[in-house]
Amino acid sequence: MAEKVEKTDQEWQQQLTPEQYQVTRKHGTERAFTGAYHDHKATGTYTCVCCGAELFSSDSKYDSGTGWPSFWSPAQAENLTTKRDLSHFMARTEVLCARCDAHLGHVFNDGPAPTGQRYCINSAALKFQSDKD
Ligand code: FE
Repeated sequence: MAEKVEKTDQEWQQQLTPEQYQVTRKHGTERAFTGAYHDHKATGTYTCVCCGAELFSSDSKYDSGTGWPSFWSPAQAENLTTKRDLSHFMARTEVLCARCDAHLGHVFNDGPAPTGQRYCINSAALKFQSDKD
């Protein structure tokens, strides 16, 4: 894992759109079916909108029907960290960027084979990079 990226709240606010900031730095959640990537099928890599770390590949993206981009596996496991999240009266596992601690979404155990995992990620936390570029 590369070095940690640490910025002040003000720096993040300057770098990100209000929605990106709210989701990644304030643990927000975009409304279902409103993000840029829930129905996005191009081939490429999804990186962290905050620091550019490689997070997910289109190879493991699938349609979960939830309205959020869903993946059954990270691109590189070491680029993600997880944390117990007991907010909103639910027991969930939060997924964060290992490099900059951006809140990305949550991971659930109701995903498809081969992992059975469902990484439910906010579009606002991701930046897509096409293989064709
Ligand atoms: Fe990051």
